[in-house]
Amino acid sequence: MDRTALAARDADDPILRRERFELPDALVYLDGNSLGPPARRAQERVTSMLAAWRDDQISAWNRAGWVHLADETAARIAPLLGADRGEVAVTDSTSVDLFQTLVAACRARPDRPVLLIEQDGFPTDRYVAEAVASLLGRSVRQVPRDTLTQTVDDDVAVVTAAHVDYRSGHRLDAVALGRAARGAGAMTVWDLAHTTGALDVDLHAWDADFAVGCTYKFLNGGPGAPGYVYVAGGLDPEATIRGWWGHGQPFAFSTGWEPAAGAARFRNGSPPILAMQPLLAALDVFDGVAPRTLQERATALTTLFIDLVDERIGDAVEVASPRDAALRGAQVSLRHPSAYAVMQALIDRGVIGDHRPPDLLRFGFAPLHTRWTDVWDGIETLRHILASGVWEQDRYAARNEVP
Ligand SMILES: *Cc1c(COP(=O)(O)O)cnc(C)c1O
Repeated sequence: MDRTALAARDADDPILRRERFELPDALVYLDGNSLGPPARRAQERVTSMLAAWRDDQISAWNRAGWVHLADETAARIAPLLGADRGEVAVTDSTSVDLFQTLVAACRARPDRPVLLIEQDGFPTDRYVAEAVASLLGRSVRQVPRDTLTQTVDDDVAVVTAAHVDYRSGHRLDAVALGRAARGAGAMTVWDLAHTTGALDVDLHAWDADFAVGCTYKFLNGGPGAPGYVYVAGGLDPEATIRGWWGHGQPFAFSTGWEPAAGAARFRNGSPPILAMQPLLAALDVFDGVAPRTLQERATALTTLFIDLVDERIGDAVEVASPRDAALRGAQVSLRHPSAYAVMQALIDRGVIGDHRPPDLLRFGFAPLHTRWTDVWDGIETLRHILASGVWEQDRYAARNEVP
């Protein structure tokens, strides 16, 4: 394997659509798992939305179709989840969506005292689960993520976990956990923050009751883009917030709250029309690409990255992600005692990943915009930094607020 062969693969890759994103040619962007790049057409969509607002003022809700925009966005995300359109709503943030679905799941299992969560998962998931437990008089049980399937029992109202762990990139066997939860009579709430847009998702096959996720990572929706909620068809979950946009007919302005069908009942206030524009531009880029295809390319990219680590820098870093591709998401983390400084040196040389404390260098491999040569160039730059010790310079020790 050499760079020339990889460049030839880039030139002839049926999935790679880097030219549809705003990414300078020289940039090696391996951070699409934290914040995806803007789609090329994002700017144009934002500009035309602002023009519709200026030209039509409030009439734009009808004329520009803003009134249906959240539904349309949800319908575009649904195929990436293996879901039907009525099963998905785009609203709020992952954290709020998690709160709403965990409360609904607990209320659907009134006699069960436990929320089962993973130990050391993403902080917001733990914070929210603890808040829901205290609100509803339940308790949180935390176990290592690879033991969730064995641990779910008939005390458990709901089991919730990130499909892919934000630090190690470890991927759960969703079918096995879904089956175990269903068998035990527990509800499931999946957090798909590090999954959707990069991996194969089939919420029906997973026996999932609920799922939530954000759109600013692999879906490239932009900073602060809205989250989404999945509610399995046939469920009639209790909604807690009951805002007017979760009403079946918001513009009837009726006295009593009647839930919208399906996931839309979890839409609370006015939809974020401005924030959905870059997201819709990005969702266009996914057109015609099946989730399974995304996963195949992501897996091939992470496999190449790990192979090149072993071959070229294996004595200087440790692979902290699963080597079994079936247990891995679309990211690879490497362990180094000075991971922060090493990452700063990489960023300084145009290779963008990120750092997670205490000792992880984290790299994401978004299947639509990561080139084969990005993998090669990322490793070569890292090899140079580690061999030269340039990361030891003082300027790479200065901490940024966002690591
Ligand atoms: C990024 C991420 C979130 C984000 O939550 P927001 O409320 O949308 O900021 C939630 N869960 C996990 C596992 C994440 O990685």
